Amino acid sequence: MANADYNALANLPATDTMPIIFVGHGSPMNAITDNEFSRTWKTIGKSITRPQAILCVSAHWLTPGSTQVTAMEVPKTIHDFGGFPKELFDQQYPAPGTPEYAAKTIELIRKTEVIADYKWGLDHGTWSVLMSMFPKADIPTYQISMDWAQHPRYHYELAKELKELRNKGVLVIGSGNLVHNLQQLKMDGEPFDWAIEFDQKITALLDDRNDDEIVDFLDLGELATLAHPIHDHFLPMLYALGLKDPAEEIEYFNDEITMSSISMKSFITRP
Ligand code: ZN
Repeated sequence: MANADYNALANLPATDTMPIIFVGHGSPMNAITDNEFSRTWKTIGKSITRPQAILCVSAHWLTPGSTQVTAMEVPKTIHDFGGFPKELFDQQYPAPGTPEYAAKTIELIRKTEVIADYKWGLDHGTWSVLMSMFPKADIPTYQISMDWAQHPRYHYELAKELKELRNKGVLVIGSGNLVHNLQQLKMDGEPFDWAIEFDQKITALLDDRNDDEIVDFLDLGELATLAHPIHDHFLPMLYALGLKDPAEEIEYFNDEITMSSISMKSFITRP
């Protein structure tokens, strides 16, 4: 838009500022397992004023070379995994989409030209958590993809452009994992030292409000590549970081390293 005064969100109702969540989703089985993680997701959902819409940034929607926002009326439930029981493939999360919020979100982003998507839907990074957090599936839900061709800092900066959504009743959830190494995963194993070290390092930086060093996590070298051989699950955290107000308290939950190499540590910041 050429007019600098143009406000893409002007005709959406103003609300109290919504929290920001980064959630470690871990195994897709958490969607249908009553465990400490899914129970906490239920509690978190109940603690939040009902959102007008939910925008998810999932580790499982990477679009190299573009940024896309789901804009369909009825997003399908995507079962984007293999080797799990039929019961998991039978799950549906029938939340409606929201073409209106999607269009406004697309207008809000100046960093790049964002594409309206009509093919994706809700992948398990989104629905495996929302099934517990918002089990009625009655809140309009949409996703934004991550341009996998971009440096982590790009994602942090793009997230800052979404801040106004918080005052329009949109709950933004980044869904990934603070440590995520599938190659080294051991079903009932103790946490690796490097997993604990990376988790603690990032936590300390979060507590210090040192966004810059978190965004430059690749500078940690081998520690970063052990924690994230592929950093798709770390990027959603950078969205939560970009969206949060520096003054906001960080409330951690599900602070546990599971299967040796997956950190479930999550956080919510409330205004
Ligand atoms: Zn995942």
